[in-house]
Order: sequence, then structure tokens, then C-alpha cells
Amino acid sequence: MKHSPNSPILLTPSLHVDEARKAIANLVAELLQEANVAQDPQEIETVSLDKAINRILAADLLSPIDVPAADNSAMDGYAFDGACLSVGSPEISLRIVGTALAGKPYEGSIGKDECLKIMTGALMPQGCDTVIPQEFTSEQDGTIRFKQDQLKVGENRRLRGEDLKQGKAAISAGRLLRPSDLGLVASLGISTLPVRRKLKVAILSSGDELRALNETLDAGSVYDSNRYSLTGLLNRLDLEIIDCGIVRDDPTSLRKAFIEASEKADVLISSGGVSVGEADFTKQIMQELGDVGFWKIAMRPGRPMAFGVLKAAPGNPSARKTLFFGLPGNPVAVMVTFYQFVRSALLQLNGAKQTEPPLIQAITETAIRKKPGRTEFQRAILGRGSDGKPTLRLTGSQGAGILRSMSEANCFVILAHEQGNIAAGDWVDIALFEGLL
Ligand code: AMP
Ligand code: MG
Repeated sequence: MKHSPNSPILLTPSLHVDEARKAIANLVAELLQEANVAQDPQEIETVSLDKAINRILAADLLSPIDVPAADNSAMDGYAFDGACLSVGSPEISLRIVGTALAGKPYEGSIGKDECLKIMTGALMPQGCDTVIPQEFTSEQDGTIRFKQDQLKVGENRRLRGEDLKQGKAAISAGRLLRPSDLGLVASLGISTLPVRRKLKVAILSSGDELRALNETLDAGSVYDSNRYSLTGLLNRLDLEIIDCGIVRDDPTSLRKAFIEASEKADVLISSGGVSVGEADFTKQIMQELGDVGFWKIAMRPGRPMAFGVLKAAPGNPSARKTLFFGLPGNPVAVMVTFYQFVRSALLQLNGAKQTEPPLIQAITETAIRKKPGRTEFQRAILGRGSDGKPTLRLTGSQGAGILRSMSEANCFVILAHEQGNIAAGDWVDIALFEGLL
């Protein structure tokens, strides 16, 4: 396996970000296949529509009806038979014979030289195929007049099934459900959905210098912030979080935490303890309890990272292998590596079809220094220039430990591996935080 400690990948001095992503995606695909997740009924639960936001749809949702169920008006105006257009005089006059409201159809039929006052959503009456919007008409003594070159036959009418045909997939399996999806499902009269169960994700912070928030800071110690940014990141994905707390740099605590995670969780995300300066036993334990590779990734921030699987816990042979991400300790590096590697893997592991967040482009207001040979994730604020184009400026110091640069930013500037220095006024790739981080 590509991630294994003996894999040639590890001999590469620095792993390209894309290679790391590929290796992760391959391992997740293997895990899914091994556990035959797609066929396992225990992986699926039924939730009511109002609880389905951010869950992942487990099966194609077929529409039981045509949407809309019948032809109806797209505008407030007058319905008539469009055959009168393109014949006769440039001005058309039609006598109003009644009114159709949404939910109150007009039962009669409409003849030549006649029309029906109709509201948006009301059923099209028999004999009518076209609606002239009210604002294009003038009305006097129960007759409307309008210029016939203002519309064509069939305009301003919604056709039965134009949104969705009965029996067709309204939403495909693997969809991360958004508000519009819930509305769409409701429009079909469906009140519950099959979704993938929530992934169980264990998190822990490793380091002797870390203090819990209610402790006092002694010399050389820092508050454990990573568990909180990770909790926030995971909550965006609506997962079940198992908080394993702060784990001291000693073999017994670390072993215990890893075993606990492999018993309970689908995924373990740790931060700290994977850099060169760390005590060797951390790596030894990770390898003893799992099949874990230690990567040096050509990226900034976030160079060291451990990745692999934990072996099924002793005494729990049925447990599925736990995916393991050992993220670097630096607070910004944690968020960047989560964004680049962990987020997509979690979505993929839970059956999501589309896992990549979109990239857009903006113009940098200032020059950016960049060395070719590594992918960089700088933090920036996206705004709008006086010409209306998207512009960005970096948020101060970009050190991997400076969380304020993340907190003030609203996007990453993503500078590709081969990219060198960037001049002010150049277009660069960005990924917005909103909805993501
Ligand atoms: P490490 O990767 O363990 O060498 O840690 C790199 C840097 O990140 C060190 O300055 C650590 O003190 C800091 N760090 C590690 N874990 C955390 C954490 N959970 N919260 C805040 N800072 C951390
Ligand atoms: Mg450490």
C-alpha cells in the first residue's frame, strides 16, 4: 500500500501535495471496499427531512411525481390561446372572462378573443398556452390590450414535469444535502431520507507543553487550541466527535489513547508529535498500533504529517480499521492540512460523491513571495476593487503558529507547487473559508 512505512513514497524527500492527496484517496477507497460499506444496512439510517441538512444521501431519490404536477402560470397576468399571436393586427385585445388563483383553478374553457386573469402558480385553463404579464397590458372595461411583439406562443407558462419527471432521480446518492435539496425533497411530498450514519471521529492533542483551558500556564506551556479548531471544523461536517483530550508525551498515555480511538472511532485525528524533533516513541507507538507512514509534504504550512490506519483494536475483532491522520502541531498547519487532506477524506469515507471545494480567482493587491517546489496556503481577505473585480490582501504575518492570520482571513490563497514569486496585480487561486472552515 502506498501509505505504508516501507513505501517508496517515504523515500521521496518531499511529497507533492497532489501525491499525498492521491495516496489518501486510494487508501480510503480500499477501506470502503474492504468493509463493503455501500452494501451494509448498518451504515444507513433514516432521518426526517428537517434533520437531514449536511447529511449524505445514501440512495438515489426517485421522484414519485411530475414537478410541477400540471401546467401553470409563471407570472401574474392573463392566460390566452397563443394562436392569435403573429396573425392579425400588431395590437391584441382580449375580453377577461374570469380569474384563476393558485390553488383555485378556473373550471371553464377560454375561447377566441378571450383571456383569463391568472396568478403565479395557478393552473393553466383549458385552451390556453400563453401568459402575458400584467405589466405589459392595459385594461379597460373588462378588456386587455397589448402589443403582440412582446411575447411568443407558450411564454410564461411552466410545463408539467419541466422541473422533474416522475421516476427520474431527483437527487443522486452521495449528495451532501443542502437547504435547496431539502426544499426539493419536500416538493415531492417526501418527509424522510436514507442517509449515511454520522462518522465517528476521535480527536486528541499530543504534547507535554499543552494545558487545558482551565489550567494556569507555567513557563513554556501553551493552551491546547487545536482541539477547538478541529471541533469547529468537524462540526461543519456534522460528525460525531469523540474528544480524547490532551495526551502527554509518554508511551503509556499515548498507547491508551490510540487503542481507545481504534475501538470507538472511524477516524482518529491527532495534532502534534509528528515532527522531526519529537520523541521517537510517538512514532514507534503509531507504527506498533497501526500501519502508518510519516510524510514530509512539500507544502507550507504543514510539512510533517502521519497518515495510515490503526489496526483493529484487541478484543474487538469486528471493528473496522480506523483511518488515522497525525497532523502537525502548529495551529495554522492543523487547519491547512485538515482543509487539504482530511476534509475530502472524511466526505469520501462517508460516501459523498463530490468532495472538492471550489477554487476561484482573485487579483492580489501586493506582490507575494513564493519559492517553487512547494504548495503554499497563505491567508487573505477577499474584497472588491474599485473596478468591481475580486481583489485580495494577505493577513499580516503568515507564520504557521499565528492563528490570528487565519481568524482575520476569509480565504486561502493557494500557490501551486511550481509557482514562483507573484507580482501585484496577478490573478491567483483562492478557496473561500465560508461554509468550509
Ligand atoms: P509539534 O508538531 O508537536 O512539534 O508542535 C509544533 C508547535 O505547535 C509547537 O510550538 C507546539 O507547542 C504547538 N502545538 C502543538 N499542539 C498544539 C495544540 N494542541 N494547541 C496549540 N499549539 C500546539
Ligand atoms: Mg510536540
